[in-house]
Amino acid sequence: MPPHNPSIQSYFPSTSSSRPTEATSSSSSSRPGDGFTAAELERALNPPVNPPWRPAHEYDEVEIAELVPGPRRVTFMGRIVNLYDRAMPSKAPNAARGCLKLIVKDNTGAITVRLWYARTPYHLYLGLLVSVWTPHISNGEPGSLAPPSAPFVTSIFPERDRGCHFMVHKNSDDGTLYNAPLRYQVRRPLGGLMTLKSFTDGGYEVEGAKILVCVKSLGPKKKFTNKKGLPSERVQVQIFDDTAEGTLDLWDTSTASAAHWTASNTVLLISSPGWHADRRVKIYLTSSTFIDVDPNIPDAEWLWRFAQRLTRREHVNPPFPEGVFDFEMAMSSPMRVKYLLADIDEFARSAPQGHGPEKFVGYLNVLVLETNIVSNFRRHMLMCNECCGIPIFNNSTSTACKQCDQPVQLRPNPKIIGTLVDETGSTSPGNLILSNLAWANILGQTNDELVSSPVNDLLQLEERLLYRHMTLVFGWAAEEENVGRLCVYDVQVC
Ligand SMILES: [Zn+2]
Repeated sequence: MPPHNPSIQSYFPSTSSSRPTEATSSSSSSRPGDGFTAAELERALNPPVNPPWRPAHEYDEVEIAELVPGPRRVTFMGRIVNLYDRAMPSKAPNAARGCLKLIVKDNTGAITVRLWYARTPYHLYLGLLVSVWTPHISNGEPGSLAPPSAPFVTSIFPERDRGCHFMVHKNSDDGTLYNAPLRYQVRRPLGGLMTLKSFTDGGYEVEGAKILVCVKSLGPKKKFTNKKGLPSERVQVQIFDDTAEGTLDLWDTSTASAAHWTASNTVLLISSPGWHADRRVKIYLTSSTFIDVDPNIPDAEWLWRFAQRLTRREHVNPPFPEGVFDFEMAMSSPMRVKYLLADIDEFARSAPQGHGPEKFVGYLNVLVLETNIVSNFRRHMLMCNECCGIPIFNNSTSTACKQCDQPVQLRPNPKIIGTLVDETGSTSPGNLILSNLAWANILGQTNDELVSSPVNDLLQLEERLLYRHMTLVFGWAAEEENVGRLCVYDVQVC
């Protein structure tokens, strides 16, 4: 956000009153004019909730490392890496109701921002991109435990002091700004970075220890009453890397961050975490902990890929990959490229060495050797999906996730189609990813009809499918491309 250079017009907000002839004629037609225009009355009676901030001075746009204690009008931008709310209930009409203590970090440094508030609800979370305008930077007070990596403080109260301002960039943030860790140098290892296992095995003693973890699952928000008798909230986030698993506890204001994270996808760089070892390591935020959300470093990219491979292998019902294969072209082509299961097996084995095609679309003729519709129905596992990294099974098309309470759409369990064979090989049960079209053609009914079928109808469906020939229109891609599993787009049951 560039500093706003106020023009002379900015001190005189433009209204329709700048056209006096119109204003006079409109008021004279109704009742004797009181000298105010309709727009002015409207503004006085219904003041805008967030009046635009019009700085009365110029602010120098600086990087955080350039900040020095003292009076100077500056503006800087960065991401929230630590967040703490100190509510101070007060009945005085003009008093601050509390203070949000934030650590804001750009690529050069970090600073503590005390954001006082009375009525404005600031919906803040870790990783959020913000801008601050302030007339003064201070040294951290002695004994205030200002983290060594964010030694300076600025204290702002935008609702009361028009000389400072705080802005959240939610819609204009494309995720590319200020997402490198502090003191990160390209192609150099990040100082203090260790695995979760090394951290647990004594690495926590290292000054400035850092761990890079992926979110495994997100727990529900739980309410407590703390030792002071005040209400408190906690969200437990399960985290992992390639060496171990742990828990990250978010408390109170920082719990809002979890809603912006996704299981197996969000990567967190946690610097100087608080911790206690239970059965497994538990991490929490201290006043000097930094959390970089999805940092732009190769290690984070690697961990994200690791998490993708893991979920792909373990996901009970991966979604059908969209936009990876050109099925329309394959199906409209006069040439039908027919494959055998042995061909695909060979491609799958040679792909990691870089031999063979990386991606292809074709036809397969297979025989249904086994179906498991009724057995999965009886186990209440006819349909499934995952949420928060946890498999969910049910005999319904949607259900609530037990972790996050959000509704989850369920698709047919791939395991209800058992082994398929052709003259050269077989598929293992549950190893296909079927599109909605493929499911509809195999089952001959909608998912809603399937889950409401009586068991006798399901038995008949099983009998109808068993030992039938099916033609599959499928796509296959090497692991890196997408899935490494057969993706069945369309099925004709012969
Ligand atoms: Zn969930």
